[in-house]
Amino acid sequence: MTDARRDLPAVGTLLESDAVRALTARAPRDVVASATRRVIEAARSNRSQGAHDLPGWGALIAAEVERTMTRSLRRVVNATGVVLHTNLGRAPLAERALAAIAQIAAGYSNIEYDLDAGVRGSRHIHCAALLRELTGAEDAMVVNNCAAALVLALAALADGREAIISRGELVEIGGSFRVPEIMAASGALLVEVGTTNRTHAADYVNAITPRTAAILSVHRSNFVQEGFVASVGPAELAPVAARAGVPLIHDFGSGLMLDLSPWGLSGEPTAPEAVRSGATLVVMSGDKLLGGPQAGIVLGRAEAVDAMRKHPLARAMRVDKLTLAALEATLELYRDPAAAVAELPTLRMLTAPAEVIRRRSEAVAARLRKGGIECVSVASESAVGGGAFPSARIASAAVRIEAASAARADAMLRAASVPVVGRVLDDRLQLDLRSVPEAQDDLLVGAVADALGGTAQ
Ligand SMILES: *Cc1c(COP(=O)(O)O)cnc(C)c1O
Repeated sequence: MTDARRDLPAVGTLLESDAVRALTARAPRDVVASATRRVIEAARSNRSQGAHDLPGWGALIAAEVERTMTRSLRRVVNATGVVLHTNLGRAPLAERALAAIAQIAAGYSNIEYDLDAGVRGSRHIHCAALLRELTGAEDAMVVNNCAAALVLALAALADGREAIISRGELVEIGGSFRVPEIMAASGALLVEVGTTNRTHAADYVNAITPRTAAILSVHRSNFVQEGFVASVGPAELAPVAARAGVPLIHDFGSGLMLDLSPWGLSGEPTAPEAVRSGATLVVMSGDKLLGGPQAGIVLGRAEAVDAMRKHPLARAMRVDKLTLAALEATLELYRDPAAAVAELPTLRMLTAPAEVIRRRSEAVAARLRKGGIECVSVASESAVGGGAFPSARIASAAVRIEAASAARADAMLRAASVPVVGRVLDDRLQLDLRSVPEAQDDLLVGAVADALGGTAQ
């Protein structure tokens, strides 16, 4: 038996010590007691060294209590330079969306109540009129996310029957979204046409049979094909589908509502354009370029949207009142495009002049240097993320931390009280300011100083 094991104190002794008793101000007694038992158990089974005196044990127990009390879902500072970072929660919401959530969440609402008639109403009507107004679609509905919208569209229109898709569009978009798997899950039978690099309108036409239920067009969100390539866009597919008398389902993805080419982001269609190109249904995400909450937005022909609303799976994919509150407030901003660009954090970050980002980066670097942290502001390149404008690189600026080990600096920043997620480039940790909302510059300085041992200035 080692000394450490012989010296293990009793749980009761530790709980009575001043250091451990003081922890009950931070956490309920039971939490402190369980943490104490875990710390002793870890020392007993040699998973940790334990301590040699009461204050030492107190510090170990304090750390264990802190770990227990730290929430699983925490805010982080996104200094990766990827504005729509799926792993970091995609779009931050606009102030007015946050206010709408707070108001609706705090009390009751007419989520499923018809105030005119005084009877039960439908949650599917919320946001529908606004989406029709903004996109020109005949009808609209909102579900949990774009993947759910696609599953529901296929389930409602093609269950047990064939859906035709180009081999060039059998894509994987982040984590667990793979088009062939989504199609299989919906009950539709996948009919592949064309080749990886080239698909022609005739390939679709030749695959149409009496078993065909739909044609599917999927936006290649996160990659580009170059060279000897050909594909058939929704505008060209719409008449093919119409002649065959089958619906065209367009997985449009990004949810871009405004033309961002004045800011150098071009080549992606907007949602109103996607609707105009004639698909029966267009599905897209709420939390990508639209800048709203996680949601799947369906735009399209009234009959098809109605079939989706009536499908039993619609109940399993419905959104809650907080999402609808945030989405409606977000969509409202698009009635005035200038307001949308000014007030939606995502669009603000994407359209901020490089010069403004550079000034912020220099100011943050100067404050960190004053606090004793070695760093410089350098030119950088940001990306849109969220499966849109995959090859766009936006001029930006970043604070480069001049620590000997970039990996260690990176780990320390991720362990900060407010974790900061940066990017390691050329063996240096870089904190890109474009993906940091302006209002978080102080938070960033404080968190970096805290993590790397400087003082916040
Ligand atoms: C992002 C994306 C999806 C998945 O959207 P979620 O809202 O995350 O479910 C589906 N299709 C396309 C084309 C996308 O870009």
